[in-house]
Amino acid sequence: MLVLKFGGTSVGSPERMNSVAKIIKSDKPRIVVLSAVSGTTNSLVEISSYLYKGNIEGAVKLIDSLHSKYKDFVKNLLKSEAGFKKGNELIDEHFEYIRSFTKDLFTIHEEKAILAQGELISTALFHYYLEENGEKSVLLPALNFMRTDAEGEPDLKYISENLKKEITNYKSEKLFITQGYICRNAFGEVDNLKRGGSDYSASLIGAAIEADEIQIWTDIDGMHNNDPRIVKKTFPIEELSFDEAAELAYFGAKILHPSSVLPARLKNIPVRLLNTMQPEAKGTLISQKSSGGSIKAVAAKDGITAIKIRSGRMLMAYGFLRSVFEIFERYKTPIDMITTSEVAVSVTIDDAKHLDEILSELKDFATVEVDKAQTIICVVGDFLADKKGYAVKIFDSLKNIPIRMISYGGSPNNVSVLVETKQKNDALNALNDGLFNSGNK
Ligand code: ADP
Ligand code: ASP
Ligand code: MG
Repeated sequence: MLVLKFGGTSVGSPERMNSVAKIIKSDKPRIVVLSAVSGTTNSLVEISSYLYKGNIEGAVKLIDSLHSKYKDFVKNLLKSEAGFKKGNELIDEHFEYIRSFTKDLFTIHEEKAILAQGELISTALFHYYLEENGEKSVLLPALNFMRTDAEGEPDLKYISENLKKEITNYKSEKLFITQGYICRNAFGEVDNLKRGGSDYSASLIGAAIEADEIQIWTDIDGMHNNDPRIVKKTFPIEELSFDEAAELAYFGAKILHPSSVLPARLKNIPVRLLNTMQPEAKGTLISQKSSGGSIKAVAAKDGITAIKIRSGRMLMAYGFLRSVFEIFERYKTPIDMITTSEVAVSVTIDDAKHLDEILSELKDFATVEVDKAQTIICVVGDFLADKKGYAVKIFDSLKNIPIRMISYGGSPNNVSVLVETKQKNDALNALNDGLFNSGNK
């Protein structure tokens, strides 16, 4: 079985959906995971933010405009009378549902229900499009099998059992279409896997059915060595190990959802990143294989808060770090970077939801300084312990950038530095010049 995931731009217009239909043609069994049409989830987020504020007029305006965008989409996608009618009815039904939320109290539950509409619409429209073109497919509702547990983490066992059950209902079918991003939570409510979550869905589905390969089709020819939105002259990387790709995704390479490599790595299923606009391009293959000994890529993660914790009692106080970490654990706040000295420890977090409570507890036994608007720049590669020179190359490239923290040696795949977010673009460009464009790759 193959899993093929297509992102928002890849299904962003009727022409794009036509390209996807061509790419997925095959005799092999396959599950196609789709995102919402590009821009839709952003619009749904915006509609929700108006509804939270009770600005019904603003919300209705946006709903009307998105509705009419979809009316055009259907007109250009489904040409047969029956297909057009079905598509139109589908859109009207979903928008009636979205409009129903303008009438009552609006909470996070209603928001999640609204956010799910993008993927529900794109998959149904694509399914109708295939049908109109004589291609048989089965629309599998992700809400029947995709689930998170009480901790908000995907429940792979549940997903696997229920997805397999769904599929076995269709003995002779080979092409399945399902929604990325959306799921149910431990209470059975509609939920999602966070922004960009369709990649995660694809990887979870691949792991759940032990697929032969997971393909992530997007609008670029694979994982580039640096952020192409910020740096010129980036290039695709042909091969990455699971560990390298996981670090890049976690530390901000937008092409992959931060957790999306983990399920594939767990089941050792190769992941291929491919370009819908250029299907013949090689893309990136992510697998267990490590190509060894080189600096592969750079990524950046914004929205980081740095906390410096200083204790007069730290000298010889072996319980100090434990006391610090227990506080973060209690507030379920993961720490990304850590540096220590004899008298202080600095940590970074990207989820600042409980920052005030954390700081208040830390202040019981330490003095604390906080810096917001920080960025982690992460250099990824295979930094073999017995090879010299990586650190000097990285820090020489960054010689003109003020660095707040450094993390080296935590994993053989990652060297991270913390800079102020306003230094990010300069840092990424400096690293590109120093590591990739000066013949010392
Ligand atoms: P999709 O909608 O298909 O999920 P995304 O927009 O989420 O696509 O991800 C693809 C985008 O990620 C690219 O268009 C590119 O601008 C951005 N990107 C950021 N960093 C990288 C990187 N290192 N390599 C490739 N693309 C990257
Ligand atoms: N549609 C969702 C989003 O825009 C999920 C995804 O595209 O992966 O975040
Ligand atoms: Mg994405």
